[in-house]
Amino acid sequence: MQFSELNIIQPILKAIEEEGYTTPTPIQEQAIPLVLAGNDLMGCAQTGTGKTAAFSIPIIQLLSKNKEYKGKRKIRALIVTPTRELAIQIGDSLKAYGRHAGLASTVIFGGVNQNKQTGVLQQGVDILVATPGRLLDLMMQGFISIRDVEIFVLDEADRMLDMGFIHDVNKLIKALPDERQNLFFSATMAPEILKLAGTILKDPVRVEVTPVSSTAEIIQQSLYFVDKGNKNALLVDVLSEQPATSVLVFTRTKHGADKVVKHLMKHGIKSDAIHGNKSQNNRQRALSNFKDKTIRVLVATDIAARGIDVEEMELVINFELPNISETYVHRIGRTGRAGNKGTAISFCDYEEKAYLKDIEKLIHTTIPVVEGHPYPMEVFVIEKKEQRGARPPRNQGAQTKKPRPTTEQKVDAAKKKGKKTWFGKRDRY
Ligand code: AMP
Repeated sequence: MQFSELNIIQPILKAIEEEGYTTPTPIQEQAIPLVLAGNDLMGCAQTGTGKTAAFSIPIIQLLSKNKEYKGKRKIRALIVTPTRELAIQIGDSLKAYGRHAGLASTVIFGGVNQNKQTGVLQQGVDILVATPGRLLDLMMQGFISIRDVEIFVLDEADRMLDMGFIHDVNKLIKALPDERQNLFFSATMAPEILKLAGTILKDPVRVEVTPVSSTAEIIQQSLYFVDKGNKNALLVDVLSEQPATSVLVFTRTKHGADKVVKHLMKHGIKSDAIHGNKSQNNRQRALSNFKDKTIRVLVATDIAARGIDVEEMELVINFELPNISETYVHRIGRTGRAGNKGTAISFCDYEEKAYLKDIEKLIHTTIPVVEGHPYPMEVFVIEKKEQRGARPPRNQGAQTKKPRPTTEQKVDAAKKKGKKTWFGKRDRY
């Protein structure tokens, strides 16, 4: 399928060609004709599938067909997305795909002074991309009216709910005109997402691509069992072996991200962290240093990483496994985009084995384990000794008939006493 077969107008086709896109992605193939035909859309797709173009292209086309009006431009398409990074990316995409279409668009988000944003808004825009908080704020101050919106997009609805934006979204919906086209995107379709969709969409057509549990199949994954205290050393080791020039490392906490960066810098690996405690300027600087390869490693928490869109991401490392298994799929989905090959490496310590179990259940895959690395879990060393007959001294000459505790029992007992724990190799979980 070619873009030209999707009834896209010439100015947009030209821009798509200039972007270097040759064929539409599956979500674009499905969604573009449906949106052009005026349908409400429920899109089950995550970042990396090309969903931004799937809604941006038909929006530009629909608005540019009917742009003969007098006076100041009114906001006719509103795209609401959870993070500033995503908002900026969508804004960039709209500018790119719409560069020959003669429409005006702008992006607003919180955490920065509003004057520049209100200045642009006062000149009039056709398309507004916004995060919910700043949007409501500027509406309250009278800088924005959304009464003329013809197309409303709610992007990454699942994350919107995760981040606690439900009340803001409900307020926005009330302020929109009843007569409008709605496009709703979410990577997952949990019951609360469907409930929200029900309050927004009218007779939607549903499109679904790469369900969250199958995305992982196109990415080469591997797993290192490693004690928590050795993860930093292992990371340096893995980075010295891997040829990747852009590496995204995930931690669960902001503090953890900073610690990893400190360790990497100490070992001469250029890196920076991106997380919620960093100022907007710091985050943008880290991201642009990463994009132009001034730094090799970007260490991110999940929330901060949501908007990161870096092409040619070769390697994702889960320094810590996420406690929500779908997050694993989102994380590794940062690599292997748009047909590029990608690698995802995960470090798993004892405490994380339950997370690993959930992840493998979700992706229907047993992640291959890397054996023989320099920082094996303590248990592997002990087990090997046991196999060779060199049992720990406390077990030697045991006279009692009581059966020896299993590895799992030993681990649980040690955990209860707050001791350092270890577990058996055969007992993956
Ligand atoms: P998205 O899922 O919208 O975040 O897009 C993921 C990445 O794929 C972005 O970097 C886009 O520039 C790129 N992309 C979107 N559509 C296409 C396409 N048809 N061909 C090649 N790359 C694309």
